[in-house]
Amino acid sequence: MELDLAHVSVCFPAAAQPAVDDVSFGLGAGQIGVLIGPSGCGKTTLLRAVAGLEPLAAGRIALGGRVVSGPGVHTPPQQRRIGLVFQDYALFPHLDVARNVAFGLHALPAAQQRARVDEVLALVGLDGLQTRFPHELSGGQQQRVALARALAPQPRLLLLDEPFSTLDVDLRERLAHEIRAIIKAAGITALFVTHDQMEAFAIGDVIGVMHQGRLHQWDDAYTLYHRPATRFVAEFIGHGVFVPARIRQQGQEVVVDTPLGPLHGPQECPLPSAYPDGLCEILLRADDIVHDDASPVKAQIVRKAFRGAEFLYTLRLASGETVLAHVPSHHDHDVGEWIGIRNAMDHLVTFARG
Ligand code: ADP
Ligand code: MG
Repeated sequence: MELDLAHVSVCFPAAAQPAVDDVSFGLGAGQIGVLIGPSGCGKTTLLRAVAGLEPLAAGRIALGGRVVSGPGVHTPPQQRRIGLVFQDYALFPHLDVARNVAFGLHALPAAQQRARVDEVLALVGLDGLQTRFPHELSGGQQQRVALARALAPQPRLLLLDEPFSTLDVDLRERLAHEIRAIIKAAGITALFVTHDQMEAFAIGDVIGVMHQGRLHQWDDAYTLYHRPATRFVAEFIGHGVFVPARIRQQGQEVVVDTPLGPLHGPQECPLPSAYPDGLCEILLRADDIVHDDASPVKAQIVRKAFRGAEFLYTLRLASGETVLAHVPSHHDHDVGEWIGIRNAMDHLVTFARG
């Protein structure tokens, strides 16, 4: 592992709870990890701990196989070879692009500095803008200069803390794909922080979901979405609700009774004995339900949100449960209308009844 965290905790004096609480994960060389979670969950603090800017209360952090933070060890930030692109780590307004990018290269002779500046500016797609000043650049260009500045000294690890949070949504999405391509082209290991799920999915090879200082799951996006390890992850990633269900054995087959009717032998279904009387809750995603007028299961539209390609409907079932459903937007129904729906679940995510 290029970056390896084991049981890392960070506590601020006078705080009741640790800001980072027993976090462990690893990133292989060249991998991009993303930390996602609501504001205040400890993402920035964790990144600062990796950078050497916060001492650990417990655990250890290793970079390239060497412990840099741990009991009796604290390698200073400048000796960790880490590049930082932080929210509040702006460009120097009085320096042009080339001088901004050359900032961490003072140890090199001038000719080598120039060559490296040209090289990283080409990498981030800003070749030719060497003599521009930050105020002459768009927000997206400024972020790419900040990235070039962080990459210039050839760090072993790049840390990015919500670098796009001040940019508008369209630009963020495009930049997310660009930044991923740039980081991959540079072959560098990176840890990226965001509170935006689409950004996390677009950038990360692996994604960590944090809540109240704890890392709930560390997995690829597909696994997080389809096999959330905790209720928090299930709710934070994607749209969905929990509905009561009952797992039972029927002959050789496992059947799950759900408010949308029985499911026969779904994938990854636990045995009925996993829960008292087989009673549990299942995660029902908006894409687990399809609109089907022929279906005997009816639901009333309580609310609808237009999302371009689809509507996100909030539906009330006859049994009283509320569920969410994506419906292609060329079927336009009114709030209050009853529509037929059908279960399209292929696998099951279950939790104990809450
Ligand atoms: P995030 O980046 O996920 O929004 P932070 O890491 O900034 O979260 O904060 C995690 C928790 O630690 C919050 O409760 C925050 O108030 C607290 N915190 C952050 N920095 C400090 C600090 N310097 N002193 C005391 N508490 C802090
Ligand atoms: Mg933060």
